[in-house]
Amino acid sequence: MSKFSDIVGQQQLKEHLKQAILTDKVSHAYIIEGERNSGKEFMAKVFAQSLQCSDREEEEPCGKCHSCIQAESLNHPDIIFVTHEKPNVIGVEDIREQINSDVQIMPYQGPKKVYIVNDAEMMTVQAQNALLKTLEEPPSYAVIILLTSNMEIFLPTIVSRCVVLHMKPAKDDEIKEFLMRTMQIPDYRAQICVAFARGNTGKARLLAKSEEFDKVKDEAVSLLKNIADMDVAELTQSIKHINEYKFDANDYLDIFLIWYRDMLLFKATHDANGLIFREELPAIRKAADKSTYEGIETIIESIEKCKARLRANVNFDLSMELLLLAIKEN
Ligand SMILES: [Zn+2]
Repeated sequence: MSKFSDIVGQQQLKEHLKQAILTDKVSHAYIIEGERNSGKEFMAKVFAQSLQCSDREEEEPCGKCHSCIQAESLNHPDIIFVTHEKPNVIGVEDIREQINSDVQIMPYQGPKKVYIVNDAEMMTVQAQNALLKTLEEPPSYAVIILLTSNMEIFLPTIVSRCVVLHMKPAKDDEIKEFLMRTMQIPDYRAQICVAFARGNTGKARLLAKSEEFDKVKDEAVSLLKNIADMDVAELTQSIKHINEYKFDANDYLDIFLIWYRDMLLFKATHDANGLIFREELPAIRKAADKSTYEGIETIIESIEKCKARLRANVNFDLSMELLLLAIKEN
């Protein structure tokens, strides 16, 4: 069942939508901006379901009526998910057919007709201009929700007709509580996923579900634990191995970053409680004793540098080799 109370964090955004429902001041158009997996679509679905619910409890959908059951199974005739023919492009025909023509027809059963456009930044300029026609004179029952990770691309005339809402990073302890409650995972594992997700609840959930994440994390940690004793040939071999995973290099380097931040923290406080990798305490303690503050800081800078190189499309093997050498030297 989907409810506003199921959404982790996002107090401001939830408050805004709930107030709109309670005071019957729902806008004809919304933009919800937030990074990938931050929960924009879930937010839009709950809002749409609540708008259509025939037995709403204040602002929350009841979850039991015919309308709610249809909405939950994505079969509500008046909640329309706009699709697109071509990959990565929402074209003018997609908007004309699925919104502009369709919106002229009265709702089948609900009080509203809600259109949800995922990845709305894929709309071409022509598509946006077509959408503008509906946004300029929307029927009273129309609600159009544009979901996007980048609203810079929208025409100013689109933005000015929409209520713009931004997803915010959720608090770490809220995400952790959510993971432990809904996925029954242990404390330590939840903590690691949260550290990687940086306030993105959906990402934390994906990581908690991903077996590959566990494998990559364990390998990275084993590399970091043994790097001091490895020679160049072994390092080169391990880089080749890293490359076999179709894992985001940025996320891979985040494992390194969190490791060295733990090391720095432990060196300064000798307290294991704040550590993300606290299960690896013996290794962290040993490495922290051996390294200097400057050394660890140099490594952290090198990791950031390596990330920047990869963003600039410098060769992966080369960037990693430079990093591992910097780690070895410090
Ligand atoms: Zn209902």
